[in-house]
Amino acid sequence: MPSALVTHQGGCHCGRVRFEVDAPAHLEVTDCNCSICAKTAYLHLIVPRDRFRLLSGKEALTTYEFNTRTAKHLFCPVCGIKAFYVPRSHPDGVSVNARCLDEGTVTGMTVIPTDGRNWEQAYPAGRGTFSRDGGGAR
Ligand SMILES: [Zn+2]
Repeated sequence: MPSALVTHQGGCHCGRVRFEVDAPAHLEVTDCNCSICAKTAYLHLIVPRDRFRLLSGKEALTTYEFNTRTAKHLFCPVCGIKAFYVPRSHPDGVSVNARCLDEGTVTGMTVIPTDGRNWEQAYPAGRGTFSRDGGGAR
């Protein structure tokens, strides 16, 4: 049975970028070891795009791309924080950095390691799928 969704809020460090995301209270997040995620210790909460709403900061967001340029690494140019982005594994979704969510709505997290360093083996179908409750991804 799918978990009930709650609305979490979050944002970058300086507060210019703010968003809401609908996900279960207990999050299923992925910890990826690829070149960029390892350096940022990013914890991925990946949701379909319609469960994410950017509240502010659209004009500030800056995009970094590399390799296949499928992923759109969006970051705040003032404080440097990547609070969410469009991942290569889910180009029709949004990956929220679970570390950037406000306190109060998250009851716990299950962390699932993902071998993004070996991307083709980790995603043999060329992309990941959305879990049934929309709260995580593999
Ligand atoms: Zn900022």
